[in-house]
Amino acid sequence: MPKETRSTCPYCGVGCGVIIESTGDEITGVRGDPDHPANFGRLCTKGSTLHLTASHAVTRQTRLLHPMQRAQRGATPQRISWDSALDFASDKFAQVIRDHGPDAVGFYISGQLLTEDYYVFNKLAKGLIGTNNVDTNSRLCMSSAVAGYKQTLGADAPPCCYDDVNHAQCIFIVGSNTSYAHPILFRRIEDAKAANPALKIIFCDPRRTDTAGIADLYLPIQPGTDVSLFNGLLHIMLWEGWTQPAYIAEHTSGFETLKATVRDYTPDLVADTCDIKKEDLFTAARLFATSAATLSLYCQGLNQSSSGTAKNAALINLHLATAQIGKPGAGPFSLTGQPNAMGGREVGGLANLLSAHRDLANPQHRAEVAALWGVLSVPEKPGKTAVEMFQATADGEIKALWIACTNPAQSMPDQATVRRALERAELVVVQEAFATPSTCDYADLLLPATTWGEKTGTVTNSERRISRVRPAVPAPSEARHDWAIAMAFAQRLEKLLPVQKISTLFPWSTGGETAAVESIWNEHRESTRGRDLDITGMSYAMLDAAPQQWPLKEGETTGKVRLYEDGIFPTEDGRARFVNTVYKPVAEPRESRYPFSLTTGRLRDQWHGMSRTGTLGRLFGHVAEPSIQMNAQDMARRLLKDGDLVHVTSKRGSIVVPLQASPEVAVSQAFMAMHWGDDYLSGLSSQGERLAGVNALTTSAYCPSSKQPELKHAAVKILKAEMP
Ligand code: SF4
Repeated sequence: MPKETRSTCPYCGVGCGVIIESTGDEITGVRGDPDHPANFGRLCTKGSTLHLTASHAVTRQTRLLHPMQRAQRGATPQRISWDSALDFASDKFAQVIRDHGPDAVGFYISGQLLTEDYYVFNKLAKGLIGTNNVDTNSRLCMSSAVAGYKQTLGADAPPCCYDDVNHAQCIFIVGSNTSYAHPILFRRIEDAKAANPALKIIFCDPRRTDTAGIADLYLPIQPGTDVSLFNGLLHIMLWEGWTQPAYIAEHTSGFETLKATVRDYTPDLVADTCDIKKEDLFTAARLFATSAATLSLYCQGLNQSSSGTAKNAALINLHLATAQIGKPGAGPFSLTGQPNAMGGREVGGLANLLSAHRDLANPQHRAEVAALWGVLSVPEKPGKTAVEMFQATADGEIKALWIACTNPAQSMPDQATVRRALERAELVVVQEAFATPSTCDYADLLLPATTWGEKTGTVTNSERRISRVRPAVPAPSEARHDWAIAMAFAQRLEKLLPVQKISTLFPWSTGGETAAVESIWNEHRESTRGRDLDITGMSYAMLDAAPQQWPLKEGETTGKVRLYEDGIFPTEDGRARFVNTVYKPVAEPRESRYPFSLTTGRLRDQWHGMSRTGTLGRLFGHVAEPSIQMNAQDMARRLLKDGDLVHVTSKRGSIVVPLQASPEVAVSQAFMAMHWGDDYLSGLSSQGERLAGVNALTTSAYCPSSKQPELKHAAVKILKAEMP
């Protein structure tokens, strides 16, 4: 009989429970955990093939198994011992810090890391080194949602839960291809629709994706015009008397200013800006406002935008104006893309945050965290966020970069700048499970990390539910756990830097692996006391029995299913705040030289840079190779046909890719999946440097509030590639 281990799927923010089957040191099977409340036993194509991506036959080809060092850039990395690797890294970091100050180093980490990993990296940077230069690839997926929640509701706390799908009478899916990106949640929506024919679903997206198939009303919005749409819907609701004045008066502030603003967003203007029929605007406004319970589900279409925070706030404005919040089936529900983007937010593992949703900009919060950690202070100077960190490295300001569990040379926008940064850095350390191309090619030091099936710890899914992650098999070869690598490095650095502290900052190594990880989690738990995400009533023992939602305070036995049911919000006056949102166009509008709006997104069966899913032939059955999708009308006008190779060019770079006609893509728009990188799709920067994948083209323009880049829109031209 194989051994069975309960754990969590490492792919998306739905956070499905899995049961891993293993024999000896090999994972042999996986199935959905029938007791896990995120999925009740279901798994999607990615989750149900996890064991195949973890088999020895595959991992022998794909894993980093030993510490490796390059004598110089471009050289073949050579195997070294862990001690040599960690001594080298700590000596070099200490030297850079002594010569140039703590802000000359940076840590770029990942929403794939577990909460405990995140906690150690955050403490290492902000507590030990004294720099806030620690940011994460979650910046690329949810920082606009964080800023939107905080500006309106007062805290970064999604108020809803998956069960709300079963209570909603209207579901507004906007900027989310839920069918592909959150498949098990989408199955719930399908079930809810089948059980309740009165449930109305509105789907709003520039692409008519698979998700549109379930919609009663499809709004084919022009890219980037969401704020205009949401303000226009509020205009109609006010005109028709569909808002809830009593709720607005009792539980909110700032409505009069917003009301004056949305007066200008007339149906004619908004229909024209968004390219949506006027009668559909009225239908959407009526369904949203007058249904007994309206739930909004949204994701990267709102977040990955130079107006990302305004888009989030404008949508939340609608929920506040119509009292569609704080009751079953209603509320603004941001879906997280990665398995533990939420956990990273909880421990403050971003350049502008501190532990337990504290703000770096708040002196009281800095003092609280310094006291918790036993250090004199936490630095005040804001850290560099993802785009800023690589720009600062390209400019020579940051000299040593530590990258964990992510592949920025493929996944960051404006890839040319990122690759220039990696070229210029004096030291690049890459801590990774997989020997991925792109970023690993620039590493001076490669540190092998453990991954799914081997690690213990916790993750938090989109509905604030914390689940245990457990190891089914031992770490392969010399791979070590992410928290343990960060801690071993930190303990060395602690001896080299003159840090004033009460005791060691990293005391967790005794008592075995699970005890150490639990100690880290317990320290994080204590930091949440009295905060909006207070988990002082949770323990590993409780999580071992069942996943739990936060908050769950000391003395309580279950977490909060949904928030703000009492109409009291975590703001100074207890009222939610309307934000005066104003529409601004995309950062790089299409124009005569670059006449197409390029948008990016996920495929159903692939994950991020394909380090795991790309190893499995059957996951290419859905989509076998990269392409750029266009509308057939645009192709006919340009005498292009299916399968033609085309140059796709933006102001930053160019790639050659096969063309595919798609009814999902509107006229003057184009779509490319984000997954294909160096192994599949090479390109060149405008200065002739080697690039790969769609991020050769994308722009790093970002939202001024959230610093989240506009991965969803770049202006491009598409021309037939001449055969030699
Ligand atoms: Fe994994 Fe997400 Fe699929 Fe669930 S829906 S099995 S978490 S990829």
